Amino acid sequence: MLPKHFESTLYLPFNYQSLKEHFEFLTPDAAPVDNVKLQDRSVWLILQGEQLLVEEKTGELPSFKPEQLRAEPLFIGLWRGLPCYVAPYSRSLSSPAGVVALDLMADEPLMSLPLLSLGALGRQLLQWQKNSSFCSSCGAAMDFIAGQWGKSCRGCGREHYPHVHPCIIVLIRRGEEVLW
Ligand SMILES: [Zn+2]
Repeated sequence: MLPKHFESTLYLPFNYQSLKEHFEFLTPDAAPVDNVKLQDRSVWLILQGEQLLVEEKTGELPSFKPEQLRAEPLFIGLWRGLPCYVAPYSRSLSSPAGVVALDLMADEPLMSLPLLSLGALGRQLLQWQKNSSFCSSCGAAMDFIAGQWGKSCRGCGREHYPHVHPCIIVLIRRGEEVLW
Protein backbone atom coordinates (compact mmCIF):
# COMPACT_ATOMS: atom_id res chain seq x y z
CA MET A 1 0.00 0.00 0.00
CA LEU A 2 3.02 2.31 -0.10
CA PRO A 3 3.58 4.58 -3.10
CA LYS A 4 5.95 3.25 -5.76
CA HIS A 5 7.66 6.60 -6.04
CA PHE A 6 8.36 9.34 -3.53
CA GLU A 7 8.48 13.00 -4.47
CA SER A 8 11.28 13.55 -2.01
CA THR A 9 13.04 11.70 0.80
CA LEU A 10 10.98 13.86 3.16
CA TYR A 11 7.98 11.70 2.29
CA LEU A 12 9.61 8.36 3.04
CA PRO A 13 7.90 6.19 5.67
CA PHE A 14 8.40 7.25 9.29
CA ASN A 15 9.10 10.89 8.46
CA TYR A 16 6.81 13.39 10.13
CA GLN A 17 6.16 14.95 6.73
CA SER A 18 4.38 11.71 5.76
CA LEU A 19 1.70 12.13 8.37
CA LYS A 20 1.46 15.79 9.27
CA GLU A 21 -1.52 16.43 6.98
CA HIS A 22 -3.47 13.97 9.12
CA PHE A 23 -1.94 14.37 12.54
CA GLU A 24 -1.43 17.22 14.97
CA PHE A 25 1.33 16.20 17.36
CA LEU A 26 0.58 17.41 20.91
CA THR A 27 1.79 16.62 24.41
CA PRO A 28 0.08 14.39 27.02
CA ASP A 29 -1.02 17.39 29.11
CA ALA A 30 -2.93 18.75 26.07
CA ALA A 31 -5.42 15.87 26.38
CA PRO A 32 -9.02 17.09 26.23
CA VAL A 33 -10.23 18.26 29.66
CA ASP A 34 -13.22 15.97 29.66
CA ASN A 35 -10.86 13.15 28.94
CA VAL A 36 -12.91 10.20 30.17
CA LYS A 37 -16.01 11.20 28.21
CA LEU A 38 -14.05 12.05 25.09
CA GLN A 39 -12.37 8.67 25.08
CA ASP A 40 -15.62 7.46 23.53
CA ARG A 41 -14.92 9.63 20.48
CA SER A 42 -11.25 8.86 20.10
CA VAL A 43 -8.96 6.73 18.04
CA TRP A 44 -6.63 4.18 19.57
CA LEU A 45 -3.09 3.56 18.44
CA ILE A 46 -2.61 0.14 19.98
CA LEU A 47 0.73 -1.57 19.54
CA GLN A 48 1.51 -5.20 20.11
CA GLY A 49 5.29 -5.09 19.84
CA GLU A 50 5.89 -4.00 16.24
CA GLN A 51 2.34 -4.80 15.20
CA LEU A 52 -0.33 -2.14 14.89
CA LEU A 53 -3.94 -3.06 15.60
CA VAL A 54 -6.39 -1.79 12.97
CA GLU A 55 -10.07 -2.37 12.33
CA GLU A 56 -10.49 -5.36 10.03
CA LYS A 57 -13.22 -3.74 7.92
CA THR A 58 -11.72 -0.30 7.36
CA GLY A 59 -7.99 -0.73 7.95
CA GLU A 60 -8.19 2.35 10.19
CA LEU A 61 -7.40 2.84 13.87
CA PRO A 62 -9.98 1.35 16.24
CA SER A 63 -12.45 3.86 17.63
CA PHE A 64 -12.89 1.95 20.87
CA LYS A 65 -10.56 1.42 23.78
CA PRO A 66 -9.47 -2.23 23.85
CA GLU A 67 -9.56 -4.00 27.20
CA GLN A 68 -6.48 -5.45 28.84
CA LEU A 69 -4.06 -2.71 27.79
CA ARG A 70 -0.60 -3.24 29.27
CA ALA A 71 -0.21 0.37 30.45
CA GLU A 72 -2.20 3.56 30.85
CA PRO A 73 -2.98 5.11 27.44
CA LEU A 74 -1.03 8.24 26.58
CA PHE A 75 -2.59 11.15 24.69
CA ILE A 76 -0.35 12.04 21.73
CA GLY A 77 -2.39 14.44 19.58
CA LEU A 78 -5.22 14.63 17.07
CA TRP A 79 -5.54 12.08 14.28
CA ARG A 80 -7.85 13.50 11.61
CA GLY A 81 -9.26 15.81 14.26
CA LEU A 82 -9.97 13.10 16.85
CA PRO A 83 -8.10 12.65 20.14
CA CYS A 84 -5.54 9.89 19.66
CA TYR A 85 -4.17 7.70 22.45
CA VAL A 86 -1.29 5.26 22.26
CA ALA A 87 -1.06 2.15 24.43
CA PRO A 88 0.70 -1.23 24.45
CA TYR A 89 -1.18 -4.50 24.14
CA SER A 90 0.19 -7.79 25.40
CA ARG A 91 1.88 -9.95 22.75
CA SER A 92 0.40 -13.04 24.35
CA LEU A 93 -3.20 -11.92 23.74
CA SER A 94 -5.08 -12.42 20.50
CA SER A 95 -6.47 -9.30 18.83
CA PRO A 96 -9.87 -8.02 20.02
CA ALA A 97 -12.86 -9.00 17.84
CA GLY A 98 -12.99 -7.09 14.54
CA VAL A 99 -9.37 -5.98 14.82
CA VAL A 100 -6.25 -7.33 13.09
CA ALA A 101 -2.56 -6.84 13.81
CA LEU A 102 -0.42 -5.49 10.95
CA ASP A 103 3.36 -5.51 10.93
CA LEU A 104 4.98 -2.05 10.96
CA MET A 105 8.27 -3.53 9.80
CA ALA A 106 6.96 -5.56 6.85
CA ASP A 107 8.70 -5.08 3.49
CA GLU A 108 5.30 -4.19 2.06
CA PRO A 109 3.19 -2.88 4.93
CA LEU A 110 -0.56 -3.40 4.54
CA MET A 111 -1.47 0.11 5.64
CA SER A 112 -1.32 3.64 4.33
CA LEU A 113 1.86 5.70 4.53
CA PRO A 114 0.43 8.14 7.14
CA LEU A 115 -0.79 5.29 9.34
CA LEU A 116 2.53 3.46 9.06
CA SER A 117 4.37 6.63 10.07
CA LEU A 118 1.98 7.27 12.95
CA GLY A 119 2.45 3.69 14.15
CA ALA A 120 6.22 4.12 14.19
CA LEU A 121 5.89 7.39 16.09
CA GLY A 122 3.62 5.68 18.61
CA ARG A 123 6.17 2.91 19.02
CA GLN A 124 8.90 5.43 19.86
CA LEU A 125 6.67 7.31 22.29
CA LEU A 126 5.74 4.09 24.13
CA GLN A 127 9.43 3.23 24.34
CA TRP A 128 10.20 6.66 25.80
CA GLN A 129 7.32 6.41 28.27
CA LYS A 130 8.49 2.97 29.39
CA ASN A 131 12.16 3.87 29.73
CA SER A 132 11.72 7.24 31.40
CA SER A 133 9.67 6.30 34.46
CA PHE A 134 12.65 6.82 36.77
CA CYS A 135 15.55 9.25 36.78
CA SER A 136 18.84 7.81 35.51
CA SER A 137 20.71 10.08 37.95
CA CYS A 138 19.00 9.41 41.27
CA GLY A 139 16.30 6.80 40.62
CA ALA A 140 13.32 8.94 41.70
CA ALA A 141 10.07 8.99 39.71
CA MET A 142 9.73 11.46 36.84
CA ASP A 143 6.80 13.53 35.56
CA PHE A 144 6.12 15.13 32.19
CA ILE A 145 7.11 18.79 31.91
CA ALA A 146 4.09 20.92 30.93
CA GLY A 147 3.82 21.39 27.17
CA GLN A 148 6.74 19.07 26.39
CA TRP A 149 7.66 15.44 25.92
CA GLY A 150 10.53 15.92 28.37
CA LYS A 151 10.29 14.80 31.99
CA SER A 152 11.66 16.21 35.21
CA CYS A 153 12.79 14.24 38.22
CA ARG A 154 10.86 14.60 41.48
CA GLY A 155 14.05 13.92 43.43
CA CYS A 156 16.91 15.90 41.89
CA GLY A 157 15.00 18.08 39.42
CA ARG A 158 17.09 16.92 36.46
CA GLU A 159 15.32 17.12 33.11
CA HIS A 160 15.37 14.26 30.61
CA TYR A 161 14.27 14.29 26.96
CA PRO A 162 13.58 11.62 24.35
CA HIS A 163 16.81 10.60 22.67
CA VAL A 164 17.19 11.56 19.05
CA HIS A 165 18.97 9.05 16.84
CA PRO A 166 19.78 10.70 13.53
CA CYS A 167 20.31 8.43 10.57
CA ILE A 168 20.91 8.87 6.86
CA ILE A 169 20.42 6.85 3.70
CA VAL A 170 23.01 7.20 0.95
CA LEU A 171 22.35 6.47 -2.70
CA ILE A 172 25.51 6.04 -4.75
CA ARG A 173 24.99 6.80 -8.44
CA ARG A 174 27.14 6.41 -11.54
CA GLY A 175 25.26 7.81 -14.48
CA GLU A 176 22.13 5.70 -14.81
CA GLU A 177 23.43 3.04 -12.41
CA VAL A 178 23.03 2.78 -8.65
CA LEU A 179 25.13 0.75 -6.27
CA TRP A 180 22.93 -2.05 -4.93
ZN1 LIG B 1 16.79 12.50 39.73
